[in-house]
Amino acid sequence: MGDLHPGELREEACELLQRLIRLDTVNPPGNERPAQELLAAHLEAAGLSCELLGATGERPNLIATLDSGREGPTLGLLGHTDTVLAQAADWTHGPWSGQIADGCIWGRGAIDMKSQVAAESVAAASLARSGWRPASGRLLVLAVVDEETGGRLGAQWLTREHPAKVRCDMLINEGGGAAFEYGGRRRYGVSCAEKGVFRFIVRVRGVAAHASTPEMGSNALLAIAPLLERFAKRQPSPLIGEQAQQLLRALGEDPSDPEAALESMRRRNAALLPLLKPVLGITFTPTMITASAKMNVIPATCELRVDCRVPPGVGREAVEAAIAEVLGDAEAQGFEIEFTEQVEGNSSPAHSPLMDAIRRWVAKHDRLGSVVPATMPGFTDSRHFRAAFPECVAYGFFPQRHRGLLESWPLIHGADERIDIRDLELATSCYVELIRALLSRT
Ligand SMILES: [Zn+2]
Repeated sequence: MGDLHPGELREEACELLQRLIRLDTVNPPGNERPAQELLAAHLEAAGLSCELLGATGERPNLIATLDSGREGPTLGLLGHTDTVLAQAADWTHGPWSGQIADGCIWGRGAIDMKSQVAAESVAAASLARSGWRPASGRLLVLAVVDEETGGRLGAQWLTREHPAKVRCDMLINEGGGAAFEYGGRRRYGVSCAEKGVFRFIVRVRGVAAHASTPEMGSNALLAIAPLLERFAKRQPSPLIGEQAQQLLRALGEDPSDPEAALESMRRRNAALLPLLKPVLGITFTPTMITASAKMNVIPATCELRVDCRVPPGVGREAVEAAIAEVLGDAEAQGFEIEFTEQVEGNSSPAHSPLMDAIRRWVAKHDRLGSVVPATMPGFTDSRHFRAAFPECVAYGFFPQRHRGLLESWPLIHGADERIDIRDLELATSCYVELIRALLSRT
């Protein structure tokens, strides 16, 4: 088997990504079928066996398999083909153009995450075409639908309805890999964990009256103002769990002194702090407020909705303590708390053969590079695989070096989403090497 040519990998990944971007898969409604069929045709022509399975005919998931026929580990490369919406008027190049300009491919999904889907598919297809096969076990390429609205018809459905077909020992998904500078080194985050959600309402009660007599009644909207101000002033104290410890240690900071670590992070890369800080604990973000439904009525209740994110392993009790820390005592302050949504955080161990393979790849390709176990502030489809297959080690890793974390993060779900073609090539060749490293031994 000859070596795969980097130029050919790049060409193939670029073309596949452009074609994927040109298929509008904004979810809702999704309409992913043409994208799934495009990928199935590409992978089948290379020698993988493909199956389209869905809860509905219009939105099937793709399972592409390269099987050794022998007992062994399963490596899955996961991606979703749906995207969030885009307002074409805000874009320099059309969100469904797939245009190449300034060395980048532009369009909705260029980062999140049609680029990774293209890189994973081209890596698997190129290896299969070259005659490579797993020595044991199997390689899966999984392209799922419906991630952007929670994965009910995608990863959740697939892991629930067809566990035997998609069971993985190792899984590579979205959520990490964009490089950042820290302490003179280029760091590549590998997403080992995802924060959970504990959303709640802060409710204050007053007494309704006619708005023309403000001193009659009791205005609940005004009564909530001091609480809103407390949210503006501070977040709960850091809560250094296992994942935060691993991150801090990898960055050369001392996990036993969070305040000193924060200060050091501020000194070493202040621009990065808003992305790193959420890993260190519970966050509160008030996003919605409702009071009177009528212009001329003093509101009798006011409800403030707070989006709260928690590290893996953190439950309701800790959130209640954090609320008390920031707002003070509920009874004394005259407010009520109502929890509306709870999703626990999820994680995979940071030490594994998959991590070792990623570490070796980084060491080989970037003299200044090192790997950092990271926690995503939001969640991805990895949580469905971690829940369905407790033994599965799932990581988010899509290496980007030429346009790093601080450049790519603001483009996710934003205007002018684009990927540097050199990074698309880097990721594609990375997946080729990881597949070989993990599945070539018997
Ligand atoms: Zn995504």
